[in-house]
Amino acid sequence: MISFSLHGVGVSSGIAIGQAHLVSNALLEVVHYQLPPALIEDEVKRFSNAIAIVKNDLEQIHASLKHSAPAELGSFIGTHLMMLSDKSLSEVPKDIIRNEQCNAEWAIKLQMDDIVEQFEQIEDEYLRERKQDVIQVVERVIKVLLGHPSQLAIQQQSSAIQERKVILVAHDISPADAIQFKQHQFAAFINEVGGVTSHTAILARSLNIPSIVALQRARDLINDGELIIVDGNQGVVIVNPDKSILTEYKLRQEQWELEQQKLQRIKLTKAVTIDGANIELLANIEVPEDVAAVKASGATGIGLYRTEFLFMNRREMPDEEEQFLAYKAVAEAMKGAEVTIRTLDLGADKQMNPDSIVTCANPALGLRAVRLCLSEPQLFNTQLRALLRASHYGKVNILIPMLSTLGELRQTKLLLERAKLSLSNENIPFDPHIALGGMIEVPAAAINAEAFAKELDFLSIGTNDLIQYTLAIDRTDDTVAHLYNPLHPSVLKLISMTIKAGEKFGKPVSVCGEMAGDSKLTKLLIGMGLRQFSMHPSHVLSVKQQVLHSEMRVLNAHARKILSYTDLDKIEPLVAKFNLH
Ligand code: PEP
Ligand code: MG
Repeated sequence: MISFSLHGVGVSSGIAIGQAHLVSNALLEVVHYQLPPALIEDEVKRFSNAIAIVKNDLEQIHASLKHSAPAELGSFIGTHLMMLSDKSLSEVPKDIIRNEQCNAEWAIKLQMDDIVEQFEQIEDEYLRERKQDVIQVVERVIKVLLGHPSQLAIQQQSSAIQERKVILVAHDISPADAIQFKQHQFAAFINEVGGVTSHTAILARSLNIPSIVALQRARDLINDGELIIVDGNQGVVIVNPDKSILTEYKLRQEQWELEQQKLQRIKLTKAVTIDGANIELLANIEVPEDVAAVKASGATGIGLYRTEFLFMNRREMPDEEEQFLAYKAVAEAMKGAEVTIRTLDLGADKQMNPDSIVTCANPALGLRAVRLCLSEPQLFNTQLRALLRASHYGKVNILIPMLSTLGELRQTKLLLERAKLSLSNENIPFDPHIALGGMIEVPAAAINAEAFAKELDFLSIGTNDLIQYTLAIDRTDDTVAHLYNPLHPSVLKLISMTIKAGEKFGKPVSVCGEMAGDSKLTKLLIGMGLRQFSMHPSHVLSVKQQVLHSEMRVLNAHARKILSYTDLDKIEPLVAKFNLH
């Protein structure tokens, strides 16, 4: 058997060794055939039945979700149910069957292609990726139409699975399928598509199992039952490893697991460097339910609450009261610890309604985030009032995404002052000293960071977008994922400029992009002067461990050296060496 390795994007850490289980892609099995007019209505009925079966299936899975299941799971399945109820999926294919006199599988696939094309035009990266949800739902319907079980076939083999480690190799794994993975204790999963912010990636992190995405053609290259190693830390899959590699990885796996156990011991330890510098380790959340994970992680506050989730998968915008209750719940639950809430970071599809998708030529460069909010002052005002009201119940900070000009900041401040005035006039309490911060995620803002530091209370570096815009690499495009590198000298320079700007004006600076949770970069960032990190809760302890082994004096000198390099090939080995100190 030939041994070889495949490289993708590691989105959840850890090492797993097990047998590959290929998940079929029903979409590839769809064929097109014409039907005689007499059979058309039967075909429409067959289609309606399939929709009903999948709906029932998803509802059952949703109802069976335990409290311990990751909060995202419920909302993702809710999204799928909503999509299934939408006319575009439940009704339009019937018209296609009638008009084209074609089979149901073909009709729903045609309609899916159309919807996916519309999703691809969406400006907001997170929403754009939701096209995968449409594909996953349609795939489920097609499986039923084709006579496949609607749930994973492996369910029947569950007892066999429990005895050995199984690694799922899929084109894309749906959230509903992910529940079964949890039940069956799958060791890891691999996806052919997706990026760091795809649902699969978010789920894998919350389930705490290794995962690699963007492993193109994985299902062509890996055979069912083959022994594979998944190294989520490096984004590498080794197929049919030889004895020596297997022994090496078994050792690495044991070490990794031991380290994870040991990390629990530092949960309550303060994040302080050897020479006494305090480092703040905060968590990123998406929904109020994530607070439980924050508390379990040892994070001392919330450095980024992405409020977009409240606005998604619905036709009506959440009103002020609904937003207030969500923000207040988080503020109260954190009992006075910092809660930095980001204002809407949405794209062109502002209603979050699949029927009203707005298209534009360059979505990532379009009317998004603060630009969108400023163009819709009513929407912005509602959120600002809700945030101010919540500030009475805890330590709330407001964070503005995607700033690129001071004008945007000043306009935002004006709207914030107006919102404060209106609340005062209505005798509604709020924190009059609420801190206002800005995300530095556009190169223009990083280059001009001093001006922003002067006019804001704090800065937060969104490295996910900063890298995307600096290197001109779409963060969701797996064909260029290998070029997406946080250590690019230009990225490091922009981060350094931002940290220095904060130091100059005495304003706190944090990193809240994925870089903050990468423990291989902790020492470098500390050496560059960073004192606040905000990350997915599952990364807090590994980053804390790096902090506890850091010595400022050594790191500062080392970081200075790294920043003086202009060649990525020289920076990478130096950073690796850095971690040995
Ligand atoms: C970032 O861009 O780094 C960030 C934290 O924001 P998001 O990932 O939500 O765009
Ligand atoms: Mg961003």
